[in-house]
Amino acid sequence: MLTIAALGILSSPPSKSKESIDFNINMSIQDVAPKLGVTGKGLARELELPIDISKKKPLKLLKVTYEELDHAIEHILSHRDSMLKYYVYAALVLLGLVFLIRLGRPDGVDIKSRRDWYPRTPYIVSLLLSVTVAGFLLGKSPNPMEAVVKVFKSMVGLYPDPMIKVIAFGFFIILAVIGNKIICGWACPFGALQELIYSIPILRKIKKRKLPFVVTNTIRACFFIAMLLLLFGIIGGRKGFVIYHYINPFNLFNLDFEAFSILLTVIIALLVSFTIYRPFCQFICPFGLVSWLAERFSIFHIRIDKEKCTQCGACLKACPLEAAKGLVNGKKMPADCFSCARCLNVCPVDAIQYTSSLNKGILGSRKL
Ligand code: SF4
Ligand code: SF4
Repeated sequence: MLTIAALGILSSPPSKSKESIDFNINMSIQDVAPKLGVTGKGLARELELPIDISKKKPLKLLKVTYEELDHAIEHILSHRDSMLKYYVYAALVLLGLVFLIRLGRPDGVDIKSRRDWYPRTPYIVSLLLSVTVAGFLLGKSPNPMEAVVKVFKSMVGLYPDPMIKVIAFGFFIILAVIGNKIICGWACPFGALQELIYSIPILRKIKKRKLPFVVTNTIRACFFIAMLLLLFGIIGGRKGFVIYHYINPFNLFNLDFEAFSILLTVIIALLVSFTIYRPFCQFICPFGLVSWLAERFSIFHIRIDKEKCTQCGACLKACPLEAAKGLVNGKKMPADCFSCARCLNVCPVDAIQYTSSLNKGILGSRKL
């Protein structure tokens, strides 16, 4: 007989259950799954069994060992959402919005001192809070990336409560739409970690490289399509296979590298962050892709006053992506903008602001 406590699970990160549930391999999938808040298909997937396997047979007849059951339970519990973390995300987004819209732009100041309008300190504080509190303290879930994936996992019956997954996804998308991708820019813990590494002052001399958006976005979209084809069993023939499970860098915040590929993904993403801006976000993250599409509907975002813009290129140079280039050139679908505020500091003629679409009368009409 195993219990969650006996398995050592209670001593792991805070998102995990405090209840003590008895499990053993004489039980069937249909006995165990409801106690863990997953469907029989969801538990079968965690046990690396076909998701349509019999749910009534004792686990030992399905050749499941105690170790495999232990591992599956631990992984399922590591995905339990911490409610507190939703509040932390909302608070960090609010901090970013207030700073970008109001506090970063004092009234009646000289344009020449624009560099001082948006000091980096509030941004760095938000990033540090994100990594420490929304990351290591509260564990990996919920996070924007998993919110997208769980909606699709629900569609193949891996969760008993699809509507809850849709609501969680809606929460992150709403935050991404209120401020242009601001949940990624200011609150996502793995995004914040990459941003901090990219911004380390002592490493500023390392040559930073901007990648063509068409390349990074195509790779990101290919990952997403591969995820759908594998998850629905259209290729591979194994319904319920989740490619992101093997490259989920948020596991870092539980210090849980169950597959070597996860550790490798984290190491590569963080090393590459020294020279390329947020590589995981640009190349892989499904929320990065979805929120890039959602940017078209964002309420607050970078706007450029066409009348004032002299096309000097200062914002293009400051932007770590091709976002500012798209802005200046009036592209309909420019690269991701993470609301990082770098461009806000450099415009010599005060043509760039972080404002709402409703401000068309005040500013020009080019929107990211
Ligand atoms: S794109 Fe980056 S910042 Fe946004 S959810 Fe994904 S990892 Fe986080
Ligand atoms: S510098 Fe680029 S990514 Fe940052 S806010 Fe400006 S346009 Fe967006």
